[in-house]
Amino acid sequence: MKIIKRESCILEMSKDHEPVEKIKSGESIVFECLNCYGNQIIKEDQDMSEVDWTFNNPSTGPLYIEGVEEGDIVKVEILDIRVEDQGVMTSRPGAGALKDKWDKLECSVIPIENNKAVFNDKISIPLNPMVGVIGLAPKNESIKNSTPDYHGGNMDCKRITKGATLYLKSNVEGGLLSMGDIHGVMGDGEVSISGLEMNGEVEVKVTVLKEYRIPTPSVTTEDLFMTIYSAETLDEAAVKSTDSMFEFLVNNLDISRKEAGNLLSLIGNLRINQIVDPLMTVRMELPREVFDKYNYKFL
Ligand code: CA
Ligand code: CA
Repeated sequence: MKIIKRESCILEMSKDHEPVEKIKSGESIVFECLNCYGNQIIKEDQDMSEVDWTFNNPSTGPLYIEGVEEGDIVKVEILDIRVEDQGVMTSRPGAGALKDKWDKLECSVIPIENNKAVFNDKISIPLNPMVGVIGLAPKNESIKNSTPDYHGGNMDCKRITKGATLYLKSNVEGGLLSMGDIHGVMGDGEVSISGLEMNGEVEVKVTVLKEYRIPTPSVTTEDLFMTIYSAETLDEAAVKSTDSMFEFLVNNLDISRKEAGNLLSLIGNLRINQIVDPLMTVRMELPREVFDKYNYKFL
């Protein structure tokens, strides 16, 4: 299987990047990924003044997918996420929902044992590895990896785990897929700016879907379908992710507008991906069972 090494990384997604690898639709590939600090923090007593904070959220790639044209859907199936044996977190004045709680920058290094993060002598947290940054090249100006938007990017969706499928719309020929910012585990919101930041590798299968209409970014898991939206405010992201799901339902299922609205109100769940990036990200989740009942098959 093809592997893209973690040294082949970019700090923004751009249509102007030269691809570092090419694959055909339907092939699988491994992306080795540095953690969001570029693996510069490896111990708690480290001199933090030596850390280059501009080397932030590197994503491995970009990958050129043969046959992808502007407007095509790129289906990314997450076959596996393998992580190393420690995770890193930081607390930084001015960063995150708890930004006024810290008077200095501090880091935490958390070991992994038996597939759990050993948080302290009382608490061990089962890992649920996810990909924080994953996206395609945007249509116009480049977008820094720290920012989530219509192209994907720093969506920090804890549902993008092994077994999940992500749908993105390509803005350029070849798509130019890249990914990084693996979290061993993360809570919805990522409130104190870090997930359990880990080096690792992501194995994916990438397929081009021509003339398929699905909102993007969106994700299927075994049980759920979710539409994702990033905006300046949580309010806007919540409304837009809901609107996106509603339009998808009424355009693809034999369901009335009234029923679709009622259904979202009864069993649709709005959840916060993150509130710490330059745009806020929200997802609207609906059980896949709904789609099964209407004989809708996701490609
Ligand atoms: Ca992130
Ligand atoms: Ca992160």
